[in-house]
Amino acid sequence: MSRTPERIAIIGAGPMGLAAAFQLVREGHIPVIFEADDRIGGMTASFDCDGMEIERYYHFHCTSDRAFLKMLAELGLADKMRWTETKMAYWFRGRLQAWGNPGALLKFRGLGLVAKFRYGLHAFHCVRRNDWRELNFLEASAWVKQWVGKEAYEILWRKLFDLKFHEYANTLSAAWIWSRIRRIGRSRYDLFREKLGCLEGGSQTWLREIESYIRERGGEFRLGTPVSRVLIEDGAIKGIRTGKRESQEEDSEENFEPFGKVISTIPIPCVPRLMPGLPRDLLEKFRAQKNIAVVCVIARLKRQLSENFWLNINDDEMDIPGLVEVSNLRPLPEHVVYVPFYMPGKHPKYKDADEIFTDRVRYYLRRINPALRDEDFLGLHVHRYRYAQPVCPPRHLDNLPPVALPIKGLWVADTSYYYPEDRGVSESFNFGKQIAKAVAAAP
Ligand SMILES: Cc1cc2nc3c(=O)[nH]c(=O)nc-3n(C[C@H](O)[C@H](O)[C@H](O)COP(=O)(O)OP(=O)(O)OC[C@H]3O[C@@H](n4cnc5c(N)ncnc54)[C@H](O)[C@@H]3O)c2cc1C
Repeated sequence: MSRTPERIAIIGAGPMGLAAAFQLVREGHIPVIFEADDRIGGMTASFDCDGMEIERYYHFHCTSDRAFLKMLAELGLADKMRWTETKMAYWFRGRLQAWGNPGALLKFRGLGLVAKFRYGLHAFHCVRRNDWRELNFLEASAWVKQWVGKEAYEILWRKLFDLKFHEYANTLSAAWIWSRIRRIGRSRYDLFREKLGCLEGGSQTWLREIESYIRERGGEFRLGTPVSRVLIEDGAIKGIRTGKRESQEEDSEENFEPFGKVISTIPIPCVPRLMPGLPRDLLEKFRAQKNIAVVCVIARLKRQLSENFWLNINDDEMDIPGLVEVSNLRPLPEHVVYVPFYMPGKHPKYKDADEIFTDRVRYYLRRINPALRDEDFLGLHVHRYRYAQPVCPPRHLDNLPPVALPIKGLWVADTSYYYPEDRGVSESFNFGKQIAKAVAAAP
């Protein structure tokens, strides 16, 4: 217990907001967590998929997810972690090819030997490398091309960039791409065998436990309660206003709650809307941040699509960079495949009806596994998340406002703040805890 308990507002109940609340109750404070959604979890939240409780977006863990594994131990859930030897494949030229280890690379059909060697060398270099300072200044696609050459780039990389980042494909940081390759590359039993993890019962297992932990120690949750304004007066936090009406008068007391400290964990492109009272230069920096949306289709299948957990895709008839058959990692009563369509929120396709996406998924899955018949599709669900993936350009951190803003009592961060690491549960959890420590220590 540090000092007199303080009531501290946290905006967002994703892993970062939950971690901040977890840390604050441990330090004897009272976090009040405001969440727009009707449930906690943010991108990790689950839903009732026709009787199965599964995540709205697939989630797996790597052996390097230290903060996540530590949190599981702190919550008494360490024995719920399951590690599995997963398989990976590449769908290319109308066939599934094994992928993800040196043997598979050597056997890969449709790529020259030199291109294979250069691709392998780059992957090896990324996994071994620790220092990212130089990469921070480089643009990713040019950097990858320089290492792997034109042939390997065109066949193995280009669609991964284009179909996820669209017009931002050539604006990403090499450090950010490197950290993604390294995270997966280091999660292995050995050179030939990938090792990925999932929690028994999925993300809901830790979400349920952490919610109880926070509540039992005095933390409060306000679900279905979007924050519409963070009130700033004379350079200090005054409180927050909740509710959907954004045209409320500043001096209205309706839905107002006073706070001296606020931690915001919502996607930072949303910050200017909630905090128009920030200095203009900071507002400009928040507004300049780019983010990619996702439309994720979940297919429940009677039969297995393939034996692979992860499938990269290079196929002119498919506008997806890959898909994930989660039931090949987490034992489930049915076969479950997640098919994410990534695109900027302003992309015209983002407005397409759910049926357009589900029809495409039926076609794609049947193309990959022609044995799938209509009756093998037990159900299709669609979820959308507008701010699913930050776009991190070279020197990304130089363009971000500081976490502790020059407003007394205000801290702001999202998944892009732990650059060069990609968005991840472990990273958000770690970051949320660090912010809470700083908040608890601040006067
Ligand atoms: C398709 C997909 C697959 C993923 N796969 C993995 C994976 O395999 N492994 C992994 O580690 N990570 C994965 N991630 C990333 C992981 O889910 C995120 O890194 C993590 O959830 C980020 O947590 P966060 O709390 O920082 O943000 P978020 O989860 O985005 O939480 C932010 C919260 O703020 C709330 N909010 C927004 N506006 C307001 C408002 N005005 N008032 C109140 N609340 C508000 C939102 O509703 C949300 O709950 C995946 C993400 C996606 C989209």
